[in-house]
Amino acid sequence: MPVPISQMWTVATYVLKQRMQGREHYPLVLMLEPLFRCNLACAGCGKIQYPAHILKTDLSPEECFKAIDECGAPMVSIPGGEPLMHPQIGEIVAGLIARKKYIYLCTNALLLKEKLHLFKPSKYLTFSVHVDGQREHHDFSVCREGGYDIAIEGIKAALEAGFRVTTNTTLFDGADPNSVRAFFDEAMALGVEGMVLSPGYTYDKAPDQKHFLGRARSRRLFRAILSNRKPTWKFNMSPLFLEFLMGKRNYQCTAWGAPAYNLFGWQRPCYLLQDGYVDTYAELVKTTDWSHYGTESGNPKCANCMVSCGYEPTTVHHAFSSFSGLFAMAKATLFSRYRDPGAVKLLEEYNATNEAHASLVQIGSGKVEDMEQTAV
Ligand code: SF4
Ligand code: SF4
Repeated sequence: MPVPISQMWTVATYVLKQRMQGREHYPLVLMLEPLFRCNLACAGCGKIQYPAHILKTDLSPEECFKAIDECGAPMVSIPGGEPLMHPQIGEIVAGLIARKKYIYLCTNALLLKEKLHLFKPSKYLTFSVHVDGQREHHDFSVCREGGYDIAIEGIKAALEAGFRVTTNTTLFDGADPNSVRAFFDEAMALGVEGMVLSPGYTYDKAPDQKHFLGRARSRRLFRAILSNRKPTWKFNMSPLFLEFLMGKRNYQCTAWGAPAYNLFGWQRPCYLLQDGYVDTYAELVKTTDWSHYGTESGNPKCANCMVSCGYEPTTVHHAFSSFSGLFAMAKATLFSRYRDPGAVKLLEEYNATNEAHASLVQIGSGKVEDMEQTAV
């Protein structure tokens, strides 16, 4: 089981309590962004384009604690920016652990080895290491040669020191599902607790706008990747969310389930979109017109979104608030092979497309050489 029983129990009892209190909107995961600066500049990133004075600013530990105390979510994800660049990140994590919050500290791991001493292993703390696939693909994705090797070194060091570690992979158009499956083997062989997956979101501000996935393409890609699973693969995510990615289920966005708090306040409506800020979680819930968001809303900014901060809370709510949901989750956990001959064919098609693309590139470079020789 990739997620410890104690964590599942905490989340399940929390959801039941919210249901018994009749709360329609409640947070499951606080997306806490204590800073926006980063030591990488990935082409698909929508977080690092702020002006310099914003990139230099940090949330204080007290501001972080105020946000979690106010919203009361049982889990905290700390993305960024690169959280390990925050000068008080050790203090922030210690304060969240003292509050018994399950923390996913998302890091590109460039600084992980040298900053490990700031933390103590705990069931409440997981390093969620950004690795977008095998070496060549990851280095291309994060625009940094050698990035993969550093991330793997960081993972090994954290595992050796006794920390919980997962990988965190974002997939864009052009991802090769065969390579992603090979990466799963590599990641599990390292000894990580599980893997986290997400399709990239179409950030307006990201420098690379060509490689974001539409919904139909996302489903096709995830069907190819996640069908016919190997028993060794473990995912640190809701199994119903994985079925959603594969196109087996339809869910609506419940962005209030993973609210984002950062230097500007509570971001409306979610971690991905910026339609203004408010001072409290209660105000966010009350003053946001939620019917304006989600794929069914007709909002073009949400049209292709399948990102976990919008849809994973929906699956958790479904699982822990009805017998049908609980049954669906138990089934998805126990029978996770998803045998699908059609998905094998898809993998072969992706392979053929890649080979055709590779030979075109070769022919293309041959032409360039021919032309260069002719010119000489
Ligand atoms: S590591 Fe994360 S925060 Fe940093 S540039 Fe890449 S996507 Fe953005
Ligand atoms: S659909 Fe995606 S972008 Fe739109 S509100 Fe939900 S999580 Fe945010």
